[in-house]
Amino acid sequence: MRLFTTVHILLFLYVISAILFWGFSLDKHSQTIYELEYATLISEVDSANNPAHFEARKTAIEEKRISRTKQYKGEGSTFLLIIVIGALVVYSSFRRSVRLSKQQNNFMLSVTHELKSPIAGMKLNLQTLERHNLDEEKKDMLVARCINEANRLNDLCSNMLLASQMEGRQYKPTKEKLSFTELLEDSLKDYSNRYADRIVAGDLEELNVTGDKVLLSLAINNLLENAIKYTPVDKPVTIALIQKHNTACLQIADNGPGIPDDEKDKIFKKFYRVGNEETRKTKGTGLGLYLTAKIVKQHKGKIHVKDNVPNGATFEVCLPLS
Ligand code: ADP
Repeated sequence: MRLFTTVHILLFLYVISAILFWGFSLDKHSQTIYELEYATLISEVDSANNPAHFEARKTAIEEKRISRTKQYKGEGSTFLLIIVIGALVVYSSFRRSVRLSKQQNNFMLSVTHELKSPIAGMKLNLQTLERHNLDEEKKDMLVARCINEANRLNDLCSNMLLASQMEGRQYKPTKEKLSFTELLEDSLKDYSNRYADRIVAGDLEELNVTGDKVLLSLAINNLLENAIKYTPVDKPVTIALIQKHNTACLQIADNGPGIPDDEKDKIFKKFYRVGNEETRKTKGTGLGLYLTAKIVKQHKGKIHVKDNVPNGATFEVCLPLS
């Protein structure tokens, strides 16, 4: 990156200096032509005997010089402008591609980690089940853990699959009238089973929207997953579904670290994760919110995040009522 920037700047400076040099030499050239033409005029026309003719030719020579100056200044500035715009475009697209490849690299690392850790967890639990003679309660606990890990794996695979399908426009979303409340309750039931006592359902109004069941469930699950993931285990996550104007608004409020103001827009970008690989404590891929925002947009809805009080984040998704 540094080498590219240096080479880019040097090349840019070289081209600018070449244009300026070209401008100065053209100016000099034009001045020489003018002087030659003027000298020819003096030798050909006697200004004392024929002042009117002399003046007319002199004006013509000057006008030619002015028009030459205008022409090379105009062409030079256009050329300069094109070079500056081109250099800026090349530089910014290079930076963008470096950033994306860095994020993709991080994504690959995270994904490998994310895929391996539930598999390792399941394997360990199954080996314990196989090798030891355990009582029923312990067996149930190990089975529940395996299901939990399988669910995590399933969510991750769904996100990855859908991300690539949506990107390639292979996924054709359906449009059916559905109960947003039922969809939410199904997810809440699932999450309450997986994370006992961590989810508090507040006001859940009966509201219908139009859209794709699979996509909307995925969006809800991604938001629930994040809220659970980023909230300490002893703190609740509160859910509400209310009507605001002509929209059904899902609010998921957590008690985690919250999201700094300057990150609030960035977290919806593909592969984006707050912090860096060294400081991050949570696992993830940076795909969840990107997909969620894409799904919400596809359903002509709005998603935004604000601070929860006294701490944490509140994600709000508002979809048009059907
Ligand atoms: P990830 O798999 O990293 O969680 P997401 O796209 O779901 O990816 O989220 C992007 C980033 O936004 C996360 O890495 C995290 O830093 C931040 N984030 C998302 N949800 C929350 C939340 N509820 N509380 C705090 N930070 C969050």
